[in-house]
Amino acid sequence: MEYRSVRGMEDMLPQDAWIWHYIEARARQEFAASGYSEIRTPILEDTAVFVRGIGDTTDIVTKEMFTFTDRKERSLTMRPEGTAPIVRAYIEHALLAIAPISRLYYVGPMFRAERPQKGRFRQFFQIGAEVIGSGSPFADIETIAQISSMMTLFGLKEFKIKLNTLGCRDDKAKFAVSLKNYLEDKRPRLCEDCVSRMDKNVLRVLDCKNPECREIVKDAPNVVDSLCQGCAEHFKKVKDGLNLLGIGFEEAKNLVRGLDYYTATVFELTHSALGGQDALAAGGRYDNLVKDMGGSALGAVGYAIGIERLIIALKAEGIKQTPETVVYIATMGDDAKLEGMRIAREIRVHIGLGNIVVLTDVGETSLKSQLRSADRSKAKIVIMLGDDELKQNKATIKDMGGKEPQVMVEIGSIVKEVVRRLC
Ligand SMILES: [Zn+2]
Ligand SMILES: [Zn+2]
Repeated sequence: MEYRSVRGMEDMLPQDAWIWHYIEARARQEFAASGYSEIRTPILEDTAVFVRGIGDTTDIVTKEMFTFTDRKERSLTMRPEGTAPIVRAYIEHALLAIAPISRLYYVGPMFRAERPQKGRFRQFFQIGAEVIGSGSPFADIETIAQISSMMTLFGLKEFKIKLNTLGCRDDKAKFAVSLKNYLEDKRPRLCEDCVSRMDKNVLRVLDCKNPECREIVKDAPNVVDSLCQGCAEHFKKVKDGLNLLGIGFEEAKNLVRGLDYYTATVFELTHSALGGQDALAAGGRYDNLVKDMGGSALGAVGYAIGIERLIIALKAEGIKQTPETVVYIATMGDDAKLEGMRIAREIRVHIGLGNIVVLTDVGETSLKSQLRSADRSKAKIVIMLGDDELKQNKATIKDMGGKEPQVMVEIGSIVKEVVRRLC
């Protein structure tokens, strides 16, 4: 019997852990500095949270959810996105009573039964942010500025911000009518998916990847012509604000998002390393969702970054792991082995848990093979200790870079000696 991971669900292997830590640590740092607090919601929710939240005609809800019935015949779904559960939790725990504006962030796995392809998995990880409680364009500006600084903190340079607006619910409905009128006589040329979108969710025709559909929507009506005065002003303020802050963006009139809850501002971050489906992050305003899910009428804006896709982009820009400094303690004999562990603990406590790794031998191998292990782990310093040396209360320190001669020192001064050589 050979076991394999479930299709589209990947193991994170130890050799790749560093880049996940790199991203998550920087994201948490940026969120903390911007006044966001973390929220963790369960992976399973009542299916209704997503059907109501995301929309019952969206691709996610109709085709991509992992939904099952539990032993008590309840329909549960593995979360396909983070916003609907957060709004559910926001209302359930009355977070509005704590602060008029909540800045929340999350990091965790999401699940969608899509066809696995480059950077797209059935279990995938997102870092996301939600600002709930403001309908102001300044919340949009701050959110887009924040994701942009975070990308810079990750060291990412070649990303683009694409911006559009969908208008309020009335504008969206008005735009849907004019788009449908435009598409009606072109229906025979549209792909099969778009033909069904025409009746269910016509805006989605705009972001179809089919080349023929793309050609057709090039001359489609522009959403800005369907905006009410309030939404037109909102969009203008967002653009002016970003310009003033020096945050580059391009207007993308055919940018719509695949979730029904978006209204007004929508945006995407794209990167050329991701190919045809080039978004590595996306977000927008969802001013009706809190009320639709049973809460107060509150404006909200948020985004999610796909971590696997961000990793592809960072690697394409040549990100490298910062090497750790390794201290290897090679020991011969039982007493020396335990003394080696004691020394290792002392060094760790003294130096702190920075980028320094102290390794000891637990394989009971020969000195020669321990020195090979030290070499393999690119140890900078090797401490050698046998039962005989231990009797004299001494150990040998070897500088693998060869800068300093190999010396024997008192065990009591090893930590001082290691610190002197490393710092
Ligand atoms: Zn409007
Ligand atoms: Zn299409």
